[in-house]
Amino acid sequence: MNEKVRCLIIGSGPAGYTAAIYASRANLSPVLYEGMQPGGQLTTTNDVENFPGYPAGITGTELMEDLKKQAERFGADIRFGLATSTDLSSKPYKVTIDGEKTIEAETIIISTGATAKYLGLPDEQKYAGSGVSACATCDGFFYRKLTVAVVGGGDTACEEAIYLAGLASKVYLIVRKDFLRASKIMQNRVLENPKIEVLFEHETLGLTGVGVVQGADLVKHRGQANETNIHIDIDGFFLAIGHKPNSDIFKPWIDTDEVGYIKTIPGTPKTNVSGIFAAGDVADPHYRQAITAAGTGCQAAIEAERYLSL
Ligand code: NDP
Repeated sequence: MNEKVRCLIIGSGPAGYTAAIYASRANLSPVLYEGMQPGGQLTTTNDVENFPGYPAGITGTELMEDLKKQAERFGADIRFGLATSTDLSSKPYKVTIDGEKTIEAETIIISTGATAKYLGLPDEQKYAGSGVSACATCDGFFYRKLTVAVVGGGDTACEEAIYLAGLASKVYLIVRKDFLRASKIMQNRVLENPKIEVLFEHETLGLTGVGVVQGADLVKHRGQANETNIHIDIDGFFLAIGHKPNSDIFKPWIDTDEVGYIKTIPGTPKTNVSGIFAAGDVADPHYRQAITAAGTGCQAAIEAERYLSL
């Protein structure tokens, strides 16, 4: 038999857990499914130094465990399980968990996050947390006065290169094409920054270093007559080749942009379907921070409470 819940939260990053804290304190008896990676993207970083309230910093895993405990303290029902399909065509909304069980929910908070794209090199795994990062805002501080490389040619890569140039002594921007895809203003800022060297038509073959990243092997003009291998000495390797929002199972009903980010009514977590809210990175192509995700998780729970009391 299908299980009926008032408030279903899908995803266990800062947005989902914060929504669970607020929803449980509002007596919505929320049920939260953690998804594939309990704790979300933060559990893949080391220290989190920019989440307010932790003056000495905290590990991503500890922060997420604390948020989970806080939600459980108020009665949130947090479960292992992955939402695998949905039917949002009519109320109550139906969500299938692990391809088996169906939950019928009066409201849903979608906080399934986004997944940073990686190049797919084995070295990205090898040096994960030891010089490889997909978030300059999170990890850039550890590279003060050091040399780093950023991969990508879009707005995110340019933004991250500029951010890192404010901390590091040198930033390589590794771009596979002979142009930047970023907006003109971002291109200009990158090209005019004396600390940033753009390596056009370069691709990464692998990373080197004993225990931590100390260098990268690149190829210039891959597949052309003038193909050349080069090596750069670096201390950090940042991926900025895009994110994939985890919104596929909602797409038939929930409006997304062309990349897949869920569209919300500006300034609110409301989607195009009444009673369904989106919070955190799945609806945020711009900020993608733990604290902004937590903020929108709070908004979503408050909106769910208002919706249920109508
Ligand atoms: P984009 O998709 O715009 O850019 C991705 C970049 O990564 C491209 O240069 C792409 O190269 C490169 N890339 C992709 N795969 C690989 C690969 N395997 N190897 C090497 N390079 C690769 O993603 P962004 O995250 O930069 O931006 C997403 C959206 O968010 C955009 O619409 C952007 O404008 C927006 N944005 C806006 C900001 C703002 O307004 N302040 C800030 C950040 C993002 P190629 O060009 O060759 O395809």
